[in-house]
Amino acid sequence: MADGARASEPLAPGLYLVATPIGNLGDITLRALAVLRAVDLIACEDTRQTQKLLNHFEIEKQMVSYHQHNERERAAELEEKLRQGARIAVVSDAGMPGISDPGSWLVKTAIAAGACVWPVPGANAALSALVAAGLNAERFSFEGFLPEKAGERRTRLETLAELAALRVTKINEAPATIIFYEAPHRIEETLKDVEAVWGGTVCVALARELTKLHEEFLRGTVAEVRAELGKRERVRGEMVLLVEPVKPDSAASADEPLVKRVAALVNGGLVEKEALKRLARETGRAKSELYRELQRERARR
Ligand code: SAM
Repeated sequence: MADGARASEPLAPGLYLVATPIGNLGDITLRALAVLRAVDLIACEDTRQTQKLLNHFEIEKQMVSYHQHNERERAAELEEKLRQGARIAVVSDAGMPGISDPGSWLVKTAIAAGACVWPVPGANAALSALVAAGLNAERFSFEGFLPEKAGERRTRLETLAELAALRVTKINEAPATIIFYEAPHRIEETLKDVEAVWGGTVCVALARELTKLHEEFLRGTVAEVRAELGKRERVRGEMVLLVEPVKPDSAASADEPLVKRVAALVNGGLVEKEALKRLARETGRAKSELYRELQRERARR
């Protein structure tokens, strides 16, 4: 057992990455509470948020703020304390610190300073969503938040689709599920992009308000999930979006003439250039090659 994990002995010096609940306070672990009680100092993303958690569990502890705007200066101060043998916990507002939250810079600093770094695992939104989504959970990739700008978001999704298709064509493996964190005001736009990139039949899951009173999973094709959200007056809450990229062979029937497959996509709202790009991605063939094949098929008709 790692030194930082023995409950009965004094806590070893070092940096403790402590997971906190993502909604349900019952998800705090016994070890997280023991570590938070025993450390000399807690570095928190937001001290007010952590104070509420500490109050709930009747823990009194000195806190310092450690967030994306003071990460580097604060890491230098904390490094000095670690060198002197301090025991420091890092917590974010919710879940695992370092996962779409501050933490990783301090971890690198601590390791470089020769300090011990201990994970204290617990709640995490991405993994909680994945295990209950009903999609491929054997392989997955975590993408965090997509870019906010529409063009960059679409480019990121297209790149991810190309990478997923490569996995299938090069190593003949089922595509890995892709996990995103998303904000309620952007989810509908993002789902629209997912549909434009992978088609309406791609399977997705939207996990909302995990571990909270109004926890909900919307599972189905992206077209179905979009239709469901479209019925709602407002989409609220914290959410994780999971996409199981389409296998190239199931995306479109390889036997069907190209001209028909392009026509189907164009009827679905894509311009011909985009339709060819999509088919190139799905089949692993070059777009220029598909373009020539399309011209040949048209000439024969
Ligand atoms: N460090 C956290 C973790 O380990 O999951 C993630 C922090 S990130 C700043 C916050 C995002 O995580 C939210 O915008 C949402 O996408 C997702 N998230 C956090 N809590 C959630 C919950 N209870 N249900 C669904 N998604 C959640």
